[in-house]
Amino acid sequence: MKIKFGITSKLLLLFFFLLFIFYGILLVLFVDIQSLKETSQQIISINNQVAALSKGMNDNLISMDVNLKKFKLLKKKVYLSYFETAKNDFCDGLDKIIKLNVPTYPISSQWEWIRKSFQDNPNTSIHLESIQESPVWVEDSLMNKWMEGISTARKENQRQIEQALIRINDLGRQSVNKSFIGMLVSLLAGILGAVFISKSMIGPIKKLKHGLNDISKDHYHLIEINSQDEFSELASAFNNMSRQLKEDEDIRSDFIAILSHEIRTPLSSIRESVNMIIEKVLGPVNDTQRKFLKIASSEISRINDLLDHLLDVSMLESYSGKISPEPIDPNQLLREVSTSLIAKGKIKDVTIRLHELGDAPMVMGVKKEIIQVLLNIVYNAVKFSPTNSFVDIHVNPKNNKDLTFEVSDQGPGIPEEEQSLIFKKYYRAKDVRNHMDGVGLGLSISKRIIHAHGGIIYVENNKEGGCSFFFTLPSINESMTTQG
Ligand code: ADP
Repeated sequence: MKIKFGITSKLLLLFFFLLFIFYGILLVLFVDIQSLKETSQQIISINNQVAALSKGMNDNLISMDVNLKKFKLLKKKVYLSYFETAKNDFCDGLDKIIKLNVPTYPISSQWEWIRKSFQDNPNTSIHLESIQESPVWVEDSLMNKWMEGISTARKENQRQIEQALIRINDLGRQSVNKSFIGMLVSLLAGILGAVFISKSMIGPIKKLKHGLNDISKDHYHLIEINSQDEFSELASAFNNMSRQLKEDEDIRSDFIAILSHEIRTPLSSIRESVNMIIEKVLGPVNDTQRKFLKIASSEISRINDLLDHLLDVSMLESYSGKISPEPIDPNQLLREVSTSLIAKGKIKDVTIRLHELGDAPMVMGVKKEIIQVLLNIVYNAVKFSPTNSFVDIHVNPKNNKDLTFEVSDQGPGIPEEEQSLIFKKYYRAKDVRNHMDGVGLGLSISKRIIHAHGGIIYVENNKEGGCSFFFTLPSINESMTTQG
């Protein structure tokens, strides 16, 4: 079973992916901020406490020394109680500092040494009475060592504060970097996601567009979209439509072909009969009868022409587009068709002027088919030209590669919005639909033929009125180089 992965699912997936990145970045930043908070708390609580307590301890030591000396000199007991208070404060402070020691944030080893040295000293724990007799409670040198120890520990503490500040700074910088990287990743993911989704949409849209373009040019073909989303459903709906259109088109063409064949046979009999009457095979015919019979005969010819055109529909449908071109001299081609063209023009007093190209290169094509194209275009030019006007046929070189045949007339021209439509099957310009003969097939047949030859066919209105039809054919040199 294939999993359907629609456009909505793709967009939702991208949305959740971006959400995931966003919250991921938030989580990382949260962890960093927590760590920053802890570090700053440690600085504030541990180091600041150590700094505050150690400052008091120095004072305690001095107070102990001074009060003992005063006592010995003045023999007042109050100094002994001051001594005791300072000593207790000192021990208290020391204990508090040592309790602040944590493995992640160790305090200076000096503190342990001071405590040990203080406790080991027999005089620091003596009774007040014995102090009265004792000449000195600690040596000055030891006292100095303790004070030095305190000062060293304070400096170490200060250093730790500085290091912690550097760490906070580093953490801050890392957080900024991480959020920057996160931003880049989410930006990249967003862009890539958007590109991926738009690509997965643009591809099928292009295929659908080509398919629709082809259908508008009567090329019915199926499109293949393998994506498992709404586009594959759209493609299958498009293919159903395309199949249906093709079937309808085939039915219509078959119907026209069968009908044309069926009408043609009795029509031939009618024409033969009318001709026999005109030629007096069946007896004498007076002038009035002859006149009306001639009208009947020309109308029969008209119907016959129409049937010929309609039969071209079958030709159009079965036209494979595979041709076996041969070199053709374009001037020679014009000369060959000139008699029938000039005769056609004379019917409407339209003068057809042929302009040959000196040193014209040979072109590659199927002569019969190119003649059919030329006749279609020139007959149209004559049909739409006013009497006593000119139709000019030119052969021009184009880009040194192709040769252009140009047929220009002095007729009504073709409105711009209809210029591409007239090459479609059965299309006839709005202005002429109701008062001109035709079935709208000549140009669509011509277009197929010219495209099969690798050329293009188009029409432009002339500035001075009328229009010019152009079609190109590859010259022999060009054709040889593309084959080679
Ligand atoms: P048909 O001539 O049988 O109608 P075509 O396919 O030859 O069919 O031409 C299609 C339509 O193009 C014509 O009906 C007409 O509207 C327009 N057209 C063709 N040639 C000319 C022209 N020389 N001048 C004006 N309109 C033209």
